[in-house]
Amino acid sequence: MNDCIFCKIANGEIPAEIIYTDDNITVFKDANPQAPVHVLVIPKQHYDSAIAVKDNSVFANLVAGAVKAAHDLGLDEKGYRMVINTGEQGGQTVNHIHLHLLAGRNLGWPPG
Ligand code: 5GP
Ligand code: ZN
Repeated sequence: MNDCIFCKIANGEIPAEIIYTDDNITVFKDANPQAPVHVLVIPKQHYDSAIAVKDNSVFANLVAGAVKAAHDLGLDEKGYRMVINTGEQGGQTVNHIHLHLLAGRNLGWPPG
């Protein structure tokens, strides 16, 4: 997608603090962190949201990437949260599907 900020992060056109990348996903630090650890996992391929994903391997890659990143970041012992905001009421603001990995403090429930 021409104007998509996360496509540009995935292909290196704009900078981000990338902590992991492979053929399918990019993992990078959120620019406005909501917890001591806040990273985003995105597919390299553009999908507007979870609703646009027809191939479940995309979801598998996002979740597996987050679990790997969490392990590598030392989060297994204390735990973490994975979130995919979807659509307007879901709180999605960037229309390239992304999984939030949040950790490093007690996370409230229910979310706001
Ligand atoms: P959403 O609200 O769509 O679930 O999450 C979008 C997230 O992307 C937000 O947490 C926001 O801080 C983050 N974000 C937006 N633009 C950029 C950017 O240019 N770089 C990085 N690293 N994060 C961004
Ligand atoms: Zn995109």
